[in-house]
Amino acid sequence: MENCLFCKIARGEIPSRKVYEDDQLIAFHDINPLRPMHILVIPRRHIVSLQTVEPGDEPVLGRMLAVTRRLAEENGSPEGFRVIINSGRIGGQEVPHLHAHVVGGPEPVGPMFKRN
Ligand code: AMP
Ligand code: ZN
Repeated sequence: MENCLFCKIARGEIPSRKVYEDDQLIAFHDINPLRPMHILVIPRRHIVSLQTVEPGDEPVLGRMLAVTRRLAEENGSPEGFRVIINSGRIGGQEVPHLHAHVVGGPEPVGPMFKRN
């Protein structure tokens, strides 16, 4: 995807503060962190969202989750963390390239939602 922001980050055309990469994934600090640790994990290959995943995407989805433990341990959240994958309009996804937010830090991240 020529003009996709996260594809550009994956290709190294836009700088990022990378914390992990392998043949299928890269992970980097969110530019606007909401918690002391806020890392994004993305597949190198363009997948729009969980709304568009296909059976062939299962290995990379599994790896995205499997690497979260290491990311948290290495980036200041060894006692736990939260993974969030916003998907589509209802999910509040802003960047249309699949990404998992891995958030944490020394203190609990708080309730999942605020009640209205
Ligand atoms: P979402 O709302 O789930 O699509 O999340 C998109 C996330 O991407 C937000 O948390 C942004 O702060 C983050 N973001 C946007 N541009 C960049 C960038 N160039 N580098 C790192 N994170 C970014
Ligand atoms: Zn992309």
